Amino acid sequence: MIEIQEELLNSLKEIFGDRMKLERDFLEKYSRDETAELEGSMPGIVLFPLTPEEISSVMKLANQYKVPVTPRGAGTGLSGGAIPPSGGIVLSLEKMNRIIEFDEENMMITVEPGVITNEIQKLADRHGLIYGGDPCSSDSSTIGGNVAENAGGNKVLKYGPTGYHVYALEVVLPTGEIVQFGGKRIKDVTGFDMIHLLIGSEGTLGIVTKITLRLLPKPKYSVALLAPFESVEKAIDAVPKLMVKSGTMPSSLEFMDRSSIQSTCKFLNIEFPYSDAGAHLIIEVEGNNKTAVSDDYERIGDICLEEGALEVFVADNRNTREKLWKVRKSIAEALSVYSPVHCMEDVSVPMARIPELIKGAEKIAEKHGLEMLSFGHAGDGNVHVTFVKGDRTEEYWKAHLEPALIELYELARDLGGCISGEHGIGLKRKKYLPIILDESQIRLIKGIKRIFDPNNILNPGKIVDL
Ligand SMILES: Cc1cc2nc3c(=O)[nH]c(=O)nc-3n(C[C@H](O)[C@H](O)[C@H](O)COP(=O)(O)OP(=O)(O)OC[C@H]3O[C@@H](n4cnc5c(N)ncnc54)[C@H](O)[C@@H]3O)c2cc1C
Repeated sequence: MIEIQEELLNSLKEIFGDRMKLERDFLEKYSRDETAELEGSMPGIVLFPLTPEEISSVMKLANQYKVPVTPRGAGTGLSGGAIPPSGGIVLSLEKMNRIIEFDEENMMITVEPGVITNEIQKLADRHGLIYGGDPCSSDSSTIGGNVAENAGGNKVLKYGPTGYHVYALEVVLPTGEIVQFGGKRIKDVTGFDMIHLLIGSEGTLGIVTKITLRLLPKPKYSVALLAPFESVEKAIDAVPKLMVKSGTMPSSLEFMDRSSIQSTCKFLNIEFPYSDAGAHLIIEVEGNNKTAVSDDYERIGDICLEEGALEVFVADNRNTREKLWKVRKSIAEALSVYSPVHCMEDVSVPMARIPELIKGAEKIAEKHGLEMLSFGHAGDGNVHVTFVKGDRTEEYWKAHLEPALIELYELARDLGGCISGEHGIGLKRKKYLPIILDESQIRLIKGIKRIFDPNNILNPGKIVDL
């Protein structure tokens, strides 16, 4: 563990006063994120900056004293990105949580990184607009964390991941310079696309201190369908057919298997139709024309039935839609309660290969004698295959998880996919990166990191080791 020198502590205390925390109980909370299988690592101190200038001072001091700095949003990450593996400084962006500007004329909003995503969604909604980013953690994760992870979520199919909505960033570089990238212009090919290099860089290239997001007109009508299927196979086989044959682009096409549904219903203490069915799909369509929306959902419903759905339920008001989504959005939480020892994966493949992914993953689980459940954003090819320890011994779990993971990643690669669609590499998948990226790609990542961060001070040990 890196020791924080007395002199450095004194300088930081002068800047931060009681926004610098050293108490053990406090540090513990900042030692981990939501990645079930990763242990925490204690930071030496936690700082709560309020301005980019304060962050700039921290980075200059950190370079001078060679102490690592780990940026942190809400700590909901699922790849260990906010864990400080060698201690040092955790820089929590929680208190930088102001909405800076709501620019209705340009349909843009500018916020600080600690704003909870859901606040942006609610504000946009009040103005008849939407923010298209919608991770299942939207009521707890920060927009800064979403940008750093290029978070996906439930509406990626229609609106794209977080990065599609970001038009400008203010960033404190690892060396302490404060840089503005982009602006409210829609088009910009002036130089390299630095914004999209920073998005998804998992807090390794800079600390995001201001974000400008584009908002979109809110569709007038929105309908969600719930389609239970007898088996996972039938549900997942229907996904590419729905996408190709329906002649419309759903805003969401989510998949939940029986174990996911049953544990979530138990967790929420609610009843769910056909909760003993093998799997359910949630399909949402939206638009401005009521007749067109109902034509779309009727066609989608018919295809579901042709593909073997046991029934199709229509949620056409806000209340019933929200109830449906509550179940989908609570799966990860229920999993943490009922199966605390698990490994939630995030493989992503081209949409048409999703049936092969699920069937292959089931075979891998069976071969290694592991329990498996799956849920996720099937319409965009991103499924959270999750291995569960259940009543297996610790030794069994440890010995079989690793080879199962490697086979899952190789399967995703061979299907034209990747090892993480939205949760990132962080600490969790670092050693598996060579399964999916070749030497030249990894050399480029390391080279870019060195240019941004010559002393390897910002979030070291994430994505790649230098
Ligand atoms: C129940 C649950 C559901 C989830 N659902 C989804 C989902 O649907 N889609 C999805 O993509 N993810 C999902 N996640 C994962 C997680 O919520 C996202 O990765 C989210 O973007 C993390 O945000 P955070 O504020 O918690 O960031 P943290 O976990 O605190 O940090 C994540 C990474 O971002 C870096 N970081 C944070 N803030 C900044 C900043 N301002 N500047 C630079 N780097 C920064 C950190 O160093 C770290 O590497 C879910 C997690 C949970 C627990």
